[in-house]
Amino acid sequence: MTYGENLQQQSIRMEQAPVPVYHPTPSQTRLATQLTEEEQIRIAQRIGLIQHLPKGVYDPGRDGSEKKIRECVICMMDFVYGDPIRFLPCMHIYHMDCIDDWLMRSFTCPSCMEPVDAALLSSYETN
Ligand SMILES: [Zn+2]
Ligand SMILES: [Zn+2]
Repeated sequence: MTYGENLQQQSIRMEQAPVPVYHPTPSQTRLATQLTEEEQIRIAQRIGLIQHLPKGVYDPGRDGSEKKIRECVICMMDFVYGDPIRFLPCMHIYHMDCIDDWLMRSFTCPSCMEPVDAALLSSYETN
């Protein structure tokens, strides 16, 4: 059980960034420092899951299978060559910054509403 260790690493990583604003429920907005311990654990777990998602850079020339997806539906901007992107299990892609922020609030794909964690958790269990 390395759970405590993981959590420690997460909090070290989080300290390096400016304090982000989280939304534990849609009606609540609080700074990370004002969260309860339980909420902090849940957020650390979620950050761990998000970091588990595959990422890459947008390359329209090489990636023929993603031809149809040219626009990030979160910020409505076209992908530009070299943009950092993240792949969801449903094969939709988004800017890494956009989707990481989105997933902290809702753990579903903003295009198809496919739950992201279901696929991730099943891949954890096979390890
Ligand atoms: Zn975007
Ligand atoms: Zn999707």
